[in-house]
Amino acid sequence: MPAGGTPVPWTEYHREVTDCLFCRIVAGEIPADVVHETDTTLAFRDIMPKAPVHVLVIPKAHHPDVAALTAADRGLAGEVLAAAAAVAEAAGLATDGYRTIFNTGPYAGQEVFHVHAHVVGGAPLGPMLMPR
Ligand code: 5GP
Ligand code: ZN
Repeated sequence: MPAGGTPVPWTEYHREVTDCLFCRIVAGEIPADVVHETDTTLAFRDIMPKAPVHVLVIPKAHHPDVAALTAADRGLAGEVLAAAAAVAEAAGLATDGYRTIFNTGPYAGQEVFHVHAHVVGGAPLGPMLMPR
């Protein structure tokens, strides 16, 4: 059962976690370039970086997106944000600035349904979205 979350049938949660790419990274089954770790969070470089620095920050516990994480465990959501700030600071991004992105759902292009903050920076990032 996800820590602090709504109880779900064990088999359903088990299937979600064993199928989940980022749970498999947490479990050490898939290698990742880890840059920061706490008891509850993990941060590793994105495999296809879109900026000079592009790090993904995740809770070790499986939650599909930031809304689900916040509903299930607000404290853990705060720990993910604190880890994102620590990653940015350690990468030297804090002075010039950086962007923290949570994609949620298909319109946002979320590809991996284990909540993750993208921490991107190291160069001017341009406008947040293309003008319509
Ligand atoms: P999303 O589109 O879900 O917000 O972002 C998913 C991110 O995960 C993408 O930026 C993608 O490049 C990254 N990604 C996908 N597979 C892997 C992987 O196996 N390892 C790492 N480090 N990043 C991955
Ligand atoms: Zn997961």
